[in-house]
Amino acid sequence: MSLSQGRQYLAIPGPTVIPDRVLAAMHRAAPNIYEGPLHRMVDGLIGDLRAVARTEGHVATYIANGHGGWEAANANVFSRGDRALVLGTGRFGEGWANSARGMGVEAELIDFGKRAAADPARVETALRADPEHRIRAVMMTHIDTASTAQNDIRAIRAALDAAGHPALLMVDSIAALGCAPLEMDAWGIDVLLAASQKGLMCPPGLCFLWFNERARDAGRRADLRTPYWDWEARAFATQFYQFFGGTAPTHHLFALREALDMLLHEEGLEAAWARHDALARAVWAAADAWGAQGPLELNIADPAARGNSVTAFRIGAPDGTRLRRWCETQAGLTLGIGLGMAEPDDPAWHGFFRVAHMGHVNAHMVLGALGAVDAGLKALKIPHGGGAVEAAARAVAAAAPEPG
Ligand SMILES: *Cc1c(COP(=O)(O)O)cnc(C)c1O
Repeated sequence: MSLSQGRQYLAIPGPTVIPDRVLAAMHRAAPNIYEGPLHRMVDGLIGDLRAVARTEGHVATYIANGHGGWEAANANVFSRGDRALVLGTGRFGEGWANSARGMGVEAELIDFGKRAAADPARVETALRADPEHRIRAVMMTHIDTASTAQNDIRAIRAALDAAGHPALLMVDSIAALGCAPLEMDAWGIDVLLAASQKGLMCPPGLCFLWFNERARDAGRRADLRTPYWDWEARAFATQFYQFFGGTAPTHHLFALREALDMLLHEEGLEAAWARHDALARAVWAAADAWGAQGPLELNIADPAARGNSVTAFRIGAPDGTRLRRWCETQAGLTLGIGLGMAEPDDPAWHGFFRVAHMGHVNAHMVLGALGAVDAGLKALKIPHGGGAVEAAARAVAAAAPEPG
């Protein structure tokens, strides 16, 4: 007997839950790519992609996952031998640095550890130590999906300004766009990156680069740029095929249309931010209760430095893996692994798990996931404080008063 039969909940931070409506939008015969509805959809998609990033800037779309997006961003901005400053707050900051290094960029990583957000004062000091302005860009994650730290983009922008440094500010918001507040133009982001399979509720396979005129100008000299990754052709396409560098990602575009309708035109972006905020608070309330006794703790202790779309837990090996297994086989809940906390061949690797609350997620899903984790802790006799589900329910109730 298992209690996992029923609708499975994939609570990992990407790919995320795909709404049935988005799946249904993809379920159609291959469309004409020469003319017709697909062509007519593009203008609206571009406008909505600008709206979701809060920018009047340009947007280029690629058939790629986030790793492809990293390369696309690097290719359009850097030349071989350029310097970049990368803010490391977990596996994904490191990943972008490695992507740039692999392309010949001298990417210097400032390591803030795996349990805190980037410190703007240290960024300012590093920029002041570069009076010749050799650093071309500061690269950072918005929410680092591994550590689940959230970086304060505005404070990093202020550090650049205080140092009087002209480097571009490049932000990977793959795990935050559509979940956490983000205002590309108002916050002074020059290059922004996101992908389809996280807060945007689509299957993996599309990534997006937004860039302003400053980044466009700075990038004109980029010698890493190759025809496929060149953002000019895509962002300023005059022929339909140019938007995608070849055959359009037909079904993904229908999915994206539906997902953006849900996010922007039905729920509303600010309501989605508030929903993610409330659901994150429910998860953290449960975590605080569990952690009152026993080994379980949040990876990011400071609430101001926590991402609102995914939460990393530390529980000690091997209980992280035991708990994930229990939740999947006994409760139909798939939790995220502890990425980048230890290497997979290290026994400590089994001491972590993550709960995603990203994208198409509501109160009953999060309360259900927390209830399943609570049951798993009990079934596995892992010591923990009581009242976690109760605390989460209170957090949900506080955020959601009776409809008027
Ligand atoms: C998921 C993710 C990536 C990588 O995306 P892939 O699609 O797995 O290549 C990069 N950065 C962040 C912040 C992410 O959350």
